[in-house]
Amino acid sequence: MYSSQDVLVNQLVNEGIIRHKQVERAMRAVDRSHFVTSPAKSYAYHDNPLPIGYNETISAPHMHATCLELLINQLKPGARVLDVGSGSGYLSAAMAIMVQPNGRVIGIEKHPELAEQSVKNIRKDMADMVDSGAIDIRAGNALGDALNEEEGFDAIHVGAAAATLPTVLVEKLKRHGRMVIPVGEQWSYQVMQVIDKDDHGNIKKHDLMGVRYVPLTPPEEYNGSDQSGGEEF
Ligand code: SAH
Repeated sequence: MYSSQDVLVNQLVNEGIIRHKQVERAMRAVDRSHFVTSPAKSYAYHDNPLPIGYNETISAPHMHATCLELLINQLKPGARVLDVGSGSGYLSAAMAIMVQPNGRVIGIEKHPELAEQSVKNIRKDMADMVDSGAIDIRAGNALGDALNEEEGFDAIHVGAAAATLPTVLVEKLKRHGRMVIPVGEQWSYQVMQVIDKDDHGNIKKHDLMGVRYVPLTPPEEYNGSDQSGGEEF
């Protein structure tokens, strides 16, 4: 029998937004209703963004699917992945499935309460991934010093719009790595950019499509409880 999550995923497959089996499998496995709270919960399987508290939103399923498809060549078993502004935790969970075995997703979320909530969401179906460290959600500002101690990543997903491409994140991209990031001012034109790092460490950018995201908070505006490099749950 099909669940509602299956109906949603079928729709994204039929629309040609989900193209790879790995993306389809990951999105079927992560039930969106676990990542939203009531009253939004009754709309969990609609292809729209929804409020998740703290004035933030979970992205629409077609945006999650688009980002997973764009990162398909990097989201391989064993890959190291960074999810900036991990919010509800949905995409961190989906990416973690795609990089098993041996892969790891680090999520950084500026609201400590939301980071904690997202770990609870993920635990509903994937407690083993949290316990093993395959998913590691931390509270912190990704543009501050939250990533100082971290090595490079094969894939970086950014879930909020940067005014300009952040150097701190580009530096954390491994050679042959790819970053998907919305770039542009709030309320103005924002574009989804794909950043590829080549063999020599040079980057190539291309603009994909116009998007609307909440702003990626600069470090000086951060008021989280721990600015020293992340809080573990
Ligand atoms: N992919 C997430 C998107 C959540 S919205 C989801 O679908 O659930 C974007 C998130 O980015 C918000 O939760 C916001 O708090 C967070 N955010 C914004 N600026 C940030 C920063 N500099 N560092 C870490 N998180 C940030």
